Amino acid sequence: MESVKIITIEHLTHDVLRIETEKPQKLIYDPGQAVDISINKKDWEQKLRSFTFTSLPDDNHLEFTIKTYPDHFGVTQQLNSLVKGDELIIHDVFGAIKFKGEGIFIAGGAGVTPFIAILKQLEKNKQIGNNKLIFANKTKADIILEDKFKNLLGENFINILSEEEQTGYEHGYITAHLIKSHIDNNTKYFYLCGPDPMMQAVEKHLSALGISDSLIIKEVF
Ligand SMILES: Cc1cc2nc3c(=O)[nH]c(=O)nc-3n(C[C@H](O)[C@H](O)[C@H](O)COP(=O)(O)OP(=O)(O)OC[C@H]3O[C@@H](n4cnc5c(N)ncnc54)[C@H](O)[C@@H]3O)c2cc1C
Repeated sequence: MESVKIITIEHLTHDVLRIETEKPQKLIYDPGQAVDISINKKDWEQKLRSFTFTSLPDDNHLEFTIKTYPDHFGVTQQLNSLVKGDELIIHDVFGAIKFKGEGIFIAGGAGVTPFIAILKQLEKNKQIGNNKLIFANKTKADIILEDKFKNLLGENFINILSEEEQTGYEHGYITAHLIKSHIDNNTKYFYLCGPDPMMQAVEKHLSALGISDSLIIKEVF
């Protein structure tokens, strides 16, 4: 457990914050992993929430990409009121998502955060290859790092919007048909992360497509 100062806090979308902090000297993590965090302020130190590192293990700072829920009156609402110099407390590192090999990343909303870290690491290693990202959001304004993913993945970045129809974007929820249309010879693994209802639906689709559980790497947010 260690407290770290906020270096930068800014909005990436209307409700997503990018928070950059100092890095504890001995902290070790893999791209895709998360850590429990609390706010170093009276009455908030014990309120732990999990957030994924979107920085890389070799970076000399930490970065988090956090969707805020003002109507929960919880930790993420408080994060909205923090400024440079305020402190977060870093607790235990954990997380089930780790890159095993090429495949399709399927994310809903803030569920994209482990894939930000993994794809950044692959970019750094010049190993982006044929990895694909299917990213589900309500509207275009909710898409986190849209330009970055477009530049990195080109046609292998597939957006689907449930509450908005836009040219060039799929509409509705992720279907078995959509997933199948993006499977090719390079697809081995399926990486899933998002809210529970989305995860349940996507797992059902993968099962219907005959994908073995051993090829699915997942974490519920
Ligand atoms: C391994 C892991 C990694 C994660 N990484 C990230 C990440 O990198 N970025 C990210 O954005 N998120 C991430 N999450 C999700 C993140 O942890 C939650 O969004 C966060 O905990 C929400 O905290 P909160 O205190 O704002 O709200 P909550 O803890 O959801 O809610 C606070 C209180 O509000 C009430 N409440 C709950 N839901 C509602 C509702 N719909 N309406 C009104 N009140 C409600 C409840 O009583 C609750 O006690 C991750 C989750 C996991 C498990």
